[in-house]
Amino acid sequence: MDYPDVLLHIDGAWTGATSGKTLPVMNPATGEENGTVAHAEQADLDRALAATERGFAVWRRMAAFDRSKTMRRAADLLRNRADAIAPLMTMEQGKPLAEARMETMAGADIIDWFAEEARRTYGRVIPARAEGVYQLSLREPVGPVAAFTPWNFPINQANRKIAISLAAGCSVIVKGPEETPASLAALVQCYVDAGLPPGVVQLVFGVPAEISGYLIPHPVIRKISFTGSTAVGKQLSALAGAHMKRVTMELGGHAPAIVFEDADVAAATKQLAAAKFRNAGQVCVSPTRFLVQDSVFDQFVEGFATAADALKVGDGLAEGTQMGPLANPRRVQAMEGFIADAVQKGAEVRTGGKRIGNKGNFFEPTVLTGVTPEMRVMNEEPFGPLALVAPFSGMEDVVAEANRLPFGLASYAFTRSAKTAASIGAALEAGMVTINHIGLALPEVPFGGVKDSGYGSEGGTEAIEGYLNIKFVTQAGL
Ligand code: NAD
Repeated sequence: MDYPDVLLHIDGAWTGATSGKTLPVMNPATGEENGTVAHAEQADLDRALAATERGFAVWRRMAAFDRSKTMRRAADLLRNRADAIAPLMTMEQGKPLAEARMETMAGADIIDWFAEEARRTYGRVIPARAEGVYQLSLREPVGPVAAFTPWNFPINQANRKIAISLAAGCSVIVKGPEETPASLAALVQCYVDAGLPPGVVQLVFGVPAEISGYLIPHPVIRKISFTGSTAVGKQLSALAGAHMKRVTMELGGHAPAIVFEDADVAAATKQLAAAKFRNAGQVCVSPTRFLVQDSVFDQFVEGFATAADALKVGDGLAEGTQMGPLANPRRVQAMEGFIADAVQKGAEVRTGGKRIGNKGNFFEPTVLTGVTPEMRVMNEEPFGPLALVAPFSGMEDVVAEANRLPFGLASYAFTRSAKTAASIGAALEAGMVTINHIGLALPEVPFGGVKDSGYGSEGGTEAIEGYLNIKFVTQAGL
C-alpha cells in the first residue's frame, strides 16, 4: 500500500508549503517513515485565511438545499472509497483495519446527518404586540471557522467539525493532525470531488501552537472548535475569549464505568472490555475507572483480565489483529509512567503492564487493581489500554468517586434495577451517560462534556447551534 506525501489544501488546490518544509509521518507499527506532510507557515496561513473568507461569501449564499446535496455527494464518495482510505489510517494511526474502515463509514453517516440538518436551521416568528409587525428570530452562519483536530480518530474528529461548519453555512480551516494526515486528506478530496466550491474547506498542518496562535486572534476567524486535551483546550479558550470568539471544546475525560451487583456481570464485562481496548484506549470517552460493587468485584476482575489477555495485539494491517500499537511513542512513555507510579503506591498489575517488543509502539492491554486516588492515573486521563478497577459498597460512595474528578465527559453504568438506573443517571456529572449498553457517538445524538471536559456538542441537532448566530429582525408594515 502506497502512502502519499500529504499536501496542504488551500483555495481548492493541493499545494506544498511556501517554505517547502515537510514533516515525516511515521508508522506506529513498524517505526518506519510512511511519507511526509507539508508544514504550513504564516504565508500559507495568510493564503488559507483569504481563501476561507472568499469561500464563506460563496457558501453562505448557496441555498441550504444545494449545500446539502454537495455534502451528500461527499458522503457517498467517502463510503465508496472506504476500502482505499482505511489502510492509510491504519498505517498512520495504528488501529486495526476493521476499526479504520468503520470510522470511515461512520464518517459518511455523519456527513449525511449534518447534510439533513443543513436544511432545518429554522428560525421563529414571535407574536408581536402591534398589528402589522413581524418579529423574526433568524439563524445565520457564525462565519469562518478554525478547527483543530487530533490524531486518535483522524477522520472522525475533523469530519464532525467540517460537516457541522458546512451545514451551518460556514467555511473552515482545519488544522489537522500532523501524525495522521493522509486519511483526513482523503476525506477532504471527497468534498473536492463532490463539487465543493474552492475556499470552503482548507486543510493545513504545521506547529499546532503557532497555527492556533495565528488563526484564533485573526479577524477573519469567527469561531473556534478544538478536540484534544483539557490543558490545551483551556489555553485556546482563553485566547478565543480575549478576542471574543465563540468556541466548541471537546476535551479530555476519565470515564467511570459502574457495575452494580444486580447487573448482568458477564455482559457488562464483555461490553466494557471491548469499549476499553477499542483504538487501544486512545478515546476521549474510553471507560477508565471501573467501579465494581463488592460482591461481584472478583468475578468482574477475573473476566475482564481474561478478556484483556485474549486480545490479539499486532500490526493493524495484519489479519486478526484486535488491538494495534499506540499511535505515538509519547503514549508508551505515558503508560509506563502511570503504571510505575501506581505500582509504587500499591497497585497490583492483574495483567499486562509492559511494552511489547522494541519495534513499534505496542503495549499490553493492562488491568490494575488496588488503585487509590493518590495515584496519578486515577486523576489524569490515561489515554491508552489501561483499565483501573476499584470496589465500591453503595450508591453514595460510588457517586462520590465517579464525580470526584474535574472531568465530565462519558460515563457508563450496568444494573438490572430501573430505580438504580434512574438514580445513577441523575447523579453522574457527565455530558453523556450510557446504561446497560455502549451507545455513544452516533451522528444523531448529542456528544460533548461538562466541567473540564469542555462545552458544546458535536452531535445531534444541538451541534449546529454552536455554529449559528441569532439575528432578531423586527419589521413594521409601511
Ligand atoms: P497534546 O496535549 O500536546 O496534544 C493534543 C492535541 O492537541 C493534538 O492534536 C495537538 O496537535 C493539539 N495541540 C496541542 N497544542 C496545541 C495548540 N497550542 N494549539 C492547537 N492545537 C494544539 O499531546 P498529545 O501527546 O498529542 O496528546 C496527549 C493528550 O491529549 C492525551 O493524553 C489526551 O488526554 C489528549 N487527547 C485527547 C483527544 C480527544 O479525543 N479528546 C485526542 C487526542 C489527544
